[in-house]
Amino acid sequence: MVSYGQMGEKVFEERELILELFPGTSPELWPPGEILYYRDQEARVHIEENPLHLVLEPLEPTGSTTPIVCAACHRHISRAAAQFFRFGVGQDARHFRYVALCRDTESCSGIAPPARLREILLRGILP
Ligand SMILES: [Zn+2]
Repeated sequence: MVSYGQMGEKVFEERELILELFPGTSPELWPPGEILYYRDQEARVHIEENPLHLVLEPLEPTGSTTPIVCAACHRHISRAAAQFFRFGVGQDARHFRYVALCRDTESCSGIAPPARLREILLRGILP
């Protein structure tokens, strides 16, 4: 699959080539691909960079009202505007990491740099 950027140029071709030719390459070394960051019907957040796909499960802890920094867009947000998520690390479904993100995924995704989303994604993929 080849994607085209806004200017009509081919993008992400290098990543697909590397994946095809060197399938054993660590995901950290892959050239950047297109990052998708969205929320589904069940309120789970997805971060995808083909072929990697991280699903973040929403949590609702109670108590603290301390403002929080969103891990994706790095804005300081109120506790009410933030939501905690957990995600399984690697193949081990019992090992979780936690992350705080904006509750408004759409507004966050307009600001969050792809490199930071990639970091979160790799934290869930790499052991
Ligand atoms: Zn955010």
